[in-house]
Amino acid sequence: MENIRVLVRVRPLNYRETHLGANACVSTSGNSITLDNKKEYTYDHVLGSDSTQEQVFQKIGNSTLQSFLDGLNCCVFAYGQTGAGKTYTMQGKGFDDITSDCIHIGLQPRLIQQLFKELPKENNWTIKCTYLEIYNEQLIDLLNDAKPMPLTIREDAKRVYVENLTEIAAASFNDVISLMQRGLANRHVSATQMNLESSRSHSIFTLQLELRTKGMYTRKSKLNFVDLAGSERQKLTAATGDRLKEASNINKSLTVLGLVINSLAENPKKFIPYRDSKLTFLLRESLGGNSKTFMIATISAASSSFQETLGTLKFASRAKNI
Ligand code: ADP
Ligand code: MG
Repeated sequence: MENIRVLVRVRPLNYRETHLGANACVSTSGNSITLDNKKEYTYDHVLGSDSTQEQVFQKIGNSTLQSFLDGLNCCVFAYGQTGAGKTYTMQGKGFDDITSDCIHIGLQPRLIQQLFKELPKENNWTIKCTYLEIYNEQLIDLLNDAKPMPLTIREDAKRVYVENLTEIAAASFNDVISLMQRGLANRHVSATQMNLESSRSHSIFTLQLELRTKGMYTRKSKLNFVDLAGSERQKLTAATGDRLKEASNINKSLTVLGLVINSLAENPKKFIPYRDSKLTFLLRESLGGNSKTFMIATISAASSSFQETLGTLKFASRAKNI
């Protein structure tokens, strides 16, 4: 059984890239991507620069939802350099605005909307949500409106969990959307810094489903949506002392994610360094365990991003081998 399935999505050139003279250096055909260096890369799914949000949902949203309803733990990661389309693909735009056009609404709200259509009418279920951010190797509870305190990861015989993380029940699509908005408003950064800082933090939105079937049997499953920090190499110019430490901590979870994926792809039976970062410790089951996991790798078609795109495609190829 494959552990991680990979979807690569190409974003079209934007105005700035075009204006600065970049060309498209990525072409797609079926489930393959060819770069201008003529090398071809193949994945489970590939969506070209003309792909729609609905296509992303059709490729991986539906099957993720069915597995989640069947009681499997599921996880969707978004990986890629800042600006490549992680947040657009996962959340999209306009889900919080009833007047907006729905074509830009991302995978997460689409899946949640469909979830509430498919949950049994008998009311024999509960959904609870959590939303956290990992920034500088600290865990921040985005659903705690009071001054957020860094949280601790705990482990017992059955599971790894975050101590004191706020869990809020949701009974409808609108409830979940409100929680997403509330979490976004609680990110610890000012609006002007939002773009810079969000590119350095990982966010994890989790739905927990409990389905009580006939008799006493209860089925539990979790679905994680993980919007990773930008994969571009941080520029460490002029960073010394504490700032250097912070810079390396900011990358730590992403660096260790890469190491964990490499080790799993090489030999899942050997020692895997899950505990070396908050992200991999918390998501161990989603990476090497019994979980249905998708990695969405987002890339820009622009020639100016060639090196970062190559890095993302290599990362995605290794994840596919798990
Ligand atoms: P990231 O989260 O990876 O840093 P974003 O998702 O914020 O990047 O995307 C950067 C910009 O590009 C946003 O303005 C977004 O709307 C736009 N964008 C991203 N992906 C696409 C796409 N597939 N099609 C059209 N626009 C996109
Ligand atoms: Mg983003």
